[in-house]
Amino acid sequence: MIKTEKTLHLRRFRGRKVRVVREHYLREQVPCFSSLCQADCANGIKVLPGDLTHYVVPDADVVVNYLEILELRELQGIIFTQTACQALHSKGRRYYNRLRNLVKDPRYHCVQFANEFQQYSYCPREKGESQEKWQTRCVYSAAVWYYNHLAGMMNVVMITEDEEAVAQYSSLHSGVYVISVQDYLQNFWPDLQAAQELYTSISQALEEKEAEDSQREFPEHLPAEVMEAGIKSGRYIQGTLSVNKHRALNEALVLTEGSCSQSMDLSSGVLVHGGKNRNRAVHGDVVVVELLPKSEWKGRVTALTEGQGDDRSADDGQENPMPTGRVVGVLQRNWRDYVVTFPSRDATQSQSRNCQRVLTIPWDRRIPKIRISTQQADTLQDHRVVVRLDSWESTSLYPNGHSVKVLGRAGELETEVQTILVENCIHVPAFSEAQMKEMPLSSPERPWRVDPAEAAKRRDLRDSHLVFSIDPVGCEDVDDTLSVRSLADGTLLELGVHIADVTHFVAEGSLTDLEARTRATTYYLADRRYDMLPAVLSADLCSLLGGVDRYAMSVLWELDAESLAVRRVWYGRTVIRSSYQLHYELAQALLNGEEVRVPELEQFCPEEKDLKLAQLIQALEMLTRVARHLRLQRDRGGALELEGVEVRAQLDKDKNITALVPRQPLEVHETVAECMIYANHWVARKIQESFPNRALLRRHPPPRQELFNQLVDTAKVMGFSIDTRTNKALADSLDRAADPQDPMVNRLLRMMATRAMSQALYFSTGSQPQDQFYHYGLALDRYTHFTSPIRRYADIVVHRLLTAALELEQGAEPAGILATNRELEELAQHINNKNWTAQRAQSASTGLFQCLFFRDRDPQTDLRCLADAIVYSIRDNGVLVFVSEYGIKGPVYLKNKEGQVVSAEPDGSCKWQSGKVRRYPSYITTTSGGCTSTFRLMSHITVRISVHSSNCHSDALVLEVVSNQPHRGSEPQRPASQGHRQLVQEVVRLAESAQQQAAHAPKLSREERDFLQSKTPNLYSILEEIRELALMDPEAVPRLTDPVKTGQ
Ligand SMILES: [Zn+2]
Repeated sequence: MIKTEKTLHLRRFRGRKVRVVREHYLREQVPCFSSLCQADCANGIKVLPGDLTHYVVPDADVVVNYLEILELRELQGIIFTQTACQALHSKGRRYYNRLRNLVKDPRYHCVQFANEFQQYSYCPREKGESQEKWQTRCVYSAAVWYYNHLAGMMNVVMITEDEEAVAQYSSLHSGVYVISVQDYLQNFWPDLQAAQELYTSISQALEEKEAEDSQREFPEHLPAEVMEAGIKSGRYIQGTLSVNKHRALNEALVLTEGSCSQSMDLSSGVLVHGGKNRNRAVHGDVVVVELLPKSEWKGRVTALTEGQGDDRSADDGQENPMPTGRVVGVLQRNWRDYVVTFPSRDATQSQSRNCQRVLTIPWDRRIPKIRISTQQADTLQDHRVVVRLDSWESTSLYPNGHSVKVLGRAGELETEVQTILVENCIHVPAFSEAQMKEMPLSSPERPWRVDPAEAAKRRDLRDSHLVFSIDPVGCEDVDDTLSVRSLADGTLLELGVHIADVTHFVAEGSLTDLEARTRATTYYLADRRYDMLPAVLSADLCSLLGGVDRYAMSVLWELDAESLAVRRVWYGRTVIRSSYQLHYELAQALLNGEEVRVPELEQFCPEEKDLKLAQLIQALEMLTRVARHLRLQRDRGGALELEGVEVRAQLDKDKNITALVPRQPLEVHETVAECMIYANHWVARKIQESFPNRALLRRHPPPRQELFNQLVDTAKVMGFSIDTRTNKALADSLDRAADPQDPMVNRLLRMMATRAMSQALYFSTGSQPQDQFYHYGLALDRYTHFTSPIRRYADIVVHRLLTAALELEQGAEPAGILATNRELEELAQHINNKNWTAQRAQSASTGLFQCLFFRDRDPQTDLRCLADAIVYSIRDNGVLVFVSEYGIKGPVYLKNKEGQVVSAEPDGSCKWQSGKVRRYPSYITTTSGGCTSTFRLMSHITVRISVHSSNCHSDALVLEVVSNQPHRGSEPQRPASQGHRQLVQEVVRLAESAQQQAAHAPKLSREERDFLQSKTPNLYSILEEIRELALMDPEAVPRLTDPVKTGQ
């Protein structure tokens, strides 16, 4: 090892340079991370493959400016030098972390090489040499080292934007090529259009940045040290900027986290009013604010504004001034990918000086306009484009960005769906080939079979247990099955829940695992879904189909046959063969003693058939009895049932939903749900006992009492009293709050109760005190998710924890490395976040379909645009209503901008006249010309639905009152869900026919189909979701496509 000195010039303290001399050790052995290595380097698991045409070594400036291109998964064989990484580090920690994650992630073919510690590749900086030149020389030297180290077996390409370097180095060494980024992409990746486009876009943005003008539009941000000192002293306040999407230009709040400043109440945040005070901070940034003098404080606006839904909290009447401040600096930029719309041509020209810089309008109203430098302004007009922000200088009114990807023309279904995905940070590329190679083979000709050696390690239930599944009609991916049998001469009863053994096929750390972990869940949109796991698992090997052998994770309870008290619980891996794939109606019919045909029994002779049928019915009866008992136990504890399942799907032969019809709630639904809840609960107990500080559980915190105010007040108006003190009291009082004349009243009250609920959350047991583990909705002290590993990553983690717990019990070291509490908590947060984004995306896609459905209708003539609505909240200038037929919620204005009010004739029909509006607790009146019209809470009115189109944002539905009487349609009201589903189907049909006409619209590629990004929603999974949610969620019916607000 050789010791040398290395001089660093660090820029610190407001530009003052500090010279630091560090000891620097050089080694001969520095890992090369190449599979071609002949020198026994201590390379780890992740190495660059040897079968590439070349390795590429990007220069420091390339890494700093073009990291996004290097992040494309298609690029292979990238070597990041230590020199380049350090250069990136000086740009900001976030960028550096991005690179570090890239190097760690086995899905990307790149490694990091510590060139400055390698004896033969290190070059000391020469006197008078600029930092940039030196860095380039270091990187070149590293490239040469690789070529020599791998004995010339691999060509090495260095890419740099320094033209002098290209001239200087390119002919020095055969086998080591030095070329520009553009040449590299054109020569080596001519088909990778995304890379070329990114290059153009970024390089243009860089050029423009150099040409910025110098007039100052905003005050400079304070240096980090000054901000930190100010926060400590209490002069400044730190928080996250949250822009009000209804008043995006003027109103933003800085939400503080437990920051108590100057003995002032900042719990509702600090108001930042206007763009100057916001000082270039963007929604989501962590900022530092300074409070303004009290005389300059302002209040928030609370009247209904365009497009505003209802707020979760009823913060009415808050027009009082509140702490108001200005942004003095940004601690952390939390910029993501944004979808913007390029304006139409004439607008473009008037906006820019040279037609190259275009002000684009983000889809998210909270994000300011973004300036993009491009030569494609013409072709991109009215297109939606994904962009990234680069900078926001104090001399610029708008931030600068560059385009990343064109999504398509605004308003087309595919463009709009992709927009929703990008805006919610959902990235669901087709499963990669490398990942598909990890999958076991199974084809109709050569179906996958159980491995005898593996089977020998498992408990074999194939002959001993009658296993069956109960699912909706036509279900193909069965992830849970049940068994029940009598033991010990009938004194004991054994209940079994058998779940697909997904972790057998998905090894921890495999590409499939990483991808599933990143996605965290299967995403359901109104017209399609994006699976967490490839179809070969979710629809085949992990689907517990009838008549085939499958691996399972089982929980078996021995219960006292009389009292049903638990005597013993067994957990473990099993082999099962499901005997019956029942559907709900069939199972219920069997229980009811009806004469029905069981397909699996057709092959048997009459005697055998009767015998088997009797066994099956007996099992179903036993199961029902156990489930009733379990349900009763939870009911006593106060489990909530806010609204039950009441839809049934009709499927065609391709498993598409053709219609949803209301169904009688069948007890067998609850029976199955109860067994799953029981399994989840007992697995939670097991893993928590084995790993008190590092088990993944799910808690549901009790709601904040003040959030119930709206519910309590509304119910009071209707003459009901709601007791929210405990979950049991709430459940009981909700049951009583029913108007026999109007079932909608109870439904709305339950809806409000749900809105007041907290979200259930995953967490690591080490990060919460045990009294916080409680699941309020289910009334259980511990709960987790175990029963759906096919479409929830949390369940995969829980399966691994259960496996580790069992290994530990048998005295063996767990095979995998267990996550620490901190790692698990981070993972839990990630899954929680992904679930929220999944819900938001689902909600946005529902809104999209609603708008597409109404967009092409004439609201004046089309009767489908008229609907019944129920008033559920009173506001200053209008009411909030719920249109059950279409599952739409929204504001209805009673006063417009011209000061006119809605006035109702004696027959109920409404028109606009000048007048006044007055708000009361339970109703609102309008007075015009001596006539008074009243709109009461929980009254039915008739609304007209139309679409407010917006080229740049999502369209919005507009609800207008046409009569203050209930809607009398020509036909009896259809059940809510049916209208809703038809809506989606019709929009999809219209969009598909439009797509066939327009050749330029992208269709799903064959790969996307093969690699399973399914177009059709998976009915089974959706219904499963509802089944679970039904215990919690009153909106379970429109919920088919609605946001999932509270899961178990
Ligand atoms: Zn080596």
